[in-house]
Amino acid sequence: MAKEVYALGEVPPLGEVPERMLASLIRPSRFGQPKDAFQVEEIPVPEVGPKQVLVYVMAAGTNYNNVWAALGQPVDVIGARMRRGATEEFHIGGSDASGIVWKIGSEVTNVKVGDEVVLSCGMWDENAPDIQAGADPITSLSNKIWGYEENWGSFAQYCLVDHYQCFPKPKQLSWEAAAAYMLVGATAYRMLAGWAPHTVQAGDPVLVWGGAGGLGTMAIQIVREMGGIPVAVVSGPERAEYCMQLGAKGVIDRREFNHWGRLPDLDDADAFGKWMTGARSFGAKFWEVLGERKNPKIVFEHPGEATIPTSIYLTDNAGMVVICAGTSGYNADVDLRYLWMRQKRLQGSHFANTAQCAAFNQLVADGRIDPCLSETYEFDQVGESHQALYENRHAPGNMAILVNATRRGMTTVS
Ligand code: NAP
Repeated sequence: MAKEVYALGEVPPLGEVPERMLASLIRPSRFGQPKDAFQVEEIPVPEVGPKQVLVYVMAAGTNYNNVWAALGQPVDVIGARMRRGATEEFHIGGSDASGIVWKIGSEVTNVKVGDEVVLSCGMWDENAPDIQAGADPITSLSNKIWGYEENWGSFAQYCLVDHYQCFPKPKQLSWEAAAAYMLVGATAYRMLAGWAPHTVQAGDPVLVWGGAGGLGTMAIQIVREMGGIPVAVVSGPERAEYCMQLGAKGVIDRREFNHWGRLPDLDDADAFGKWMTGARSFGAKFWEVLGERKNPKIVFEHPGEATIPTSIYLTDNAGMVVICAGTSGYNADVDLRYLWMRQKRLQGSHFANTAQCAAFNQLVADGRIDPCLSETYEFDQVGESHQALYENRHAPGNMAILVNATRRGMTTVS
């Protein structure tokens, strides 16, 4: 007879779905520091719809979006979902996972029970009017990030996704390494390969902010694989060394400069002059580490407010600043003179579509991109791993969390 709930790593017969599961979840009463926001609770396993897939989660990835979810800012993801009609008063985060397909809906044909998969976090309504009219699904008004805006993420023994979110797990990777890369990797791939004609070409210098972070580690490797020349920005020698090992041509330590943040008033000649001196010396450092006086064709942005003025200034004529976040703030200043006179492009980018996820996953499966797994946490440390990310004290690369793949090293199920 089926058990009601299984312990972590205690494997039910393949395809048998228990009634309840363990989940590390956030409730509104716990919004605040990530270390306190997540708690392991026992809740019902969700129902599977016709086009959905229930995945037995082996490992999950830690991403910055669940720092925001824990804080309850800038969006209260639980409240926002309930306003759209959801009934769950909790949030199960986790936008990256590796696991085993455990149950499929009646209309699912791309995976079968027992398949080993990695999951992408891009969700949309395939029947949405804009998608039906030909829009790239990741730009659809219906787009939501699974495990952040949508519930039933991977910080639980089972997670629930749409069929198109499943991709084959690269066979050579451990469960935890397989859970570490898709969100940041596919995002970086779209940023660098998805905005023609501003895609990385052979010999293009590319500036990568946060080179030792989740996005940055993927970006350096993608630029390298596309034949470009990655130059990384970091804080600290350990991170610099990490970027060099990934293939960066050179590294800039941002702590050597102090012109960060919003642009001064353009009429304040003194203040603007100081800012310009800082930006120019950063540019000179870029040339020095690149080894030639060339500006970046593409700047890979995500810090936002602190760095956008420098990124816009530094990008080459007709180059592109491509941005997917504003970690340091959203109120970023653009000196429009540089944008129009030098015909630069400031391009927003958000996660990736199915083809881009598949292309990136293939790069990993082919061994051309390393997931850069750094630390692996236990299931009751979901909050701890997000706290480390929040405080920018995590090791270079991407963190993972063991869910049903326990330290005992479970790698197969029968
Ligand atoms: P991460 O692993 O923490 O890496 C970000 C890196 O940025 C840090 O390691 C830090 O490196 C650098 N950084 C932090 N503050 C900075 C500042 N003020 N100026 C310059 N550099 C700064 O995080 P991540 O996973 O790469 O994610 C970064 C951001 O992108 C987050 O806000 C995340 O939510 C967002 N994101 C968005 C998408 C999307 O699809 N839209 C996808 C993935 C991530 P150093 O201290 O070494 O410089």
